[in-house]
Amino acid sequence: MPPLAPAADPAAAPGRRYAITTFGCQMNKADSERMAGILEAMGYRHEEDELAADLVIYNTCSIRDNAEQKVYSYLGRQARRKRHNPRLTLVVAGCVAQQEGESLLRRVPELDLVMGPQHANRLGSLLEQVESGHQVVATGEHQILEDVTRPRRESRVTAWINVIYGCNERCTYCVVPATRGREQSRTPQAIRSEIETLARQGYREITLLGQNIDAYGRDLPGITPSGRRRHTLTDLLHFIHDVEGIARIRFATSHPRYFTERLIAACAELPKVCEHFHIPFQSGDDQVLRHMARGYTVDRYRRIIRTIRRHMPEAAISADAIVGFPGETEAQFHNTMALVEEIGFDQLNTAAYSPRPHTPAATWTDQVPEPVKVERLRRLNTCVERCARRCNQRYAQQVVEVLVEGRNPKDPDQLMGRTRTNRLVFLPAGSHGPGDLVSVRIEAVRPFSLSGCSLIGSRTV
Ligand code: SAM
Ligand code: SF4
Repeated sequence: MPPLAPAADPAAAPGRRYAITTFGCQMNKADSERMAGILEAMGYRHEEDELAADLVIYNTCSIRDNAEQKVYSYLGRQARRKRHNPRLTLVVAGCVAQQEGESLLRRVPELDLVMGPQHANRLGSLLEQVESGHQVVATGEHQILEDVTRPRRESRVTAWINVIYGCNERCTYCVVPATRGREQSRTPQAIRSEIETLARQGYREITLLGQNIDAYGRDLPGITPSGRRRHTLTDLLHFIHDVEGIARIRFATSHPRYFTERLIAACAELPKVCEHFHIPFQSGDDQVLRHMARGYTVDRYRRIIRTIRRHMPEAAISADAIVGFPGETEAQFHNTMALVEEIGFDQLNTAAYSPRPHTPAATWTDQVPEPVKVERLRRLNTCVERCARRCNQRYAQQVVEVLVEGRNPKDPDQLMGRTRTNRLVFLPAGSHGPGDLVSVRIEAVRPFSLSGCSLIGSRTV
């Protein structure tokens, strides 16, 4: 097996400082943590100020055009810096790197390394090539080898764990299959051993990550005697559930096409699996869903939510939705608004459709005019805020279990943490600390957060 990173050689970059700026999804955040781990093993030190760092990595997102454009403006500033400081190493990682490849070097010739998301674990060896004087582009299809590196995690309490990389779906608006490649599942043993390490380090909560986490295991071999796939997300949850010290388990992102009743039953049965589901529906209209190639109907989505609520009445539901998809009529947009009201989402990430390179929908002639998209987004967001406020009212004066994650960065007299349903909660800093599970009575309810006081001290499980 070729090495993923040079052996931890703290002399490799003595005194050099790195900064990583991350755009986009949790996957990118997890990749950045792994890249930071590799750099620290090489002797780099973390630097908050990217204008003072010797190595700057932009870990980019190309899901929408505005995220992509932001990167170019950051890069312009660093390119000017590099003209006066040739020892500065400039790296673009992530989805824009994968999408643009060589052409990024033509646009920003000061760049040293352009690397797609599948190459995150290879950062060390790629930097060695840069050190020997090359400009490097690493965007080829790559078998992601087991992650032997130690991520430098942002949190000491909660951790993300990639369980499946890539996506085999072909949603007609989405750039991810082109940037993140085919699905590659990690083995259950490798995942469990990473979780056991985290538990020994004091982590209390893990979130299993995949672009389409319901696809977990379909590229791994094995069939059960009853003819089922041997490796599914449901089986994985059972397999990791008893790791001692871990109090909470989450997973994201779920796909309505593959979400099973068996999974819902497992979530209800396994006490550490939290009652929160992130299941993007994208549109509340069947014809739009067909054009998006999502592979389910609005009615199937409704039935999933009904089944979840039958098993777990307190479950929180969050989702993603797109407005202004090509051809979307006012009536079809209304169907999305109606679904949002009907389901009562705890949280909804909304976006105006953004045409993306190499995706079918970008070439269609019935694009919705930009001002119409903006107006629909505004109306949907108003509706979302109303629903979130209504949903949060159910917590008023309730006692909830909060896992304390740390201080509120905006108010050092407060701690912040989350409920099992993923609601953000603020409480006065007192005798509790990160990693404590605290019973909190909720006294103030806002659309996107709650505040309260701890009741009976902390407990550990
Ligand atoms: N795999 C997840 C799924 O299928 O729902 C989501 C992955 S994507 C990183 C996150 C969200 O970005 C999507 O759910 C979708 O709402 C949004 N998105 C993707 N492509 C988009 C586009 N071209 N324009 C606007 N929003 C987009
Ligand atoms: Fe993109 Fe669809 Fe894959 Fe999600 S499931 S990452 S929206 S192609």
